[in-house]
Amino acid sequence: MNEPQNVTLPNGRNLSCDTCQNELFEYHQWKLQTTGMSFMNLDWANRDANCFVCSECRRIHWFHT
Ligand SMILES: [Zn+2]
Repeated sequence: MNEPQNVTLPNGRNLSCDTCQNELFEYHQWKLQTTGMSFMNLDWANRDANCFVCSECRRIHWFHT
């Protein structure tokens, strides 16, 4: 289950949706690394992405770890 929740950012503020200002998000952690990205030697791509999907409008806000 992935219940929408408030998200506290490293700066101490609550994440709010860029589009609708909602503050409830579903959390997903997606792997960015793919064979193609490795081939391109993109170091920043070899990381996880923390993704927060707005429960209202479904906009994705994502952050690299
Ligand atoms: Zn939204």
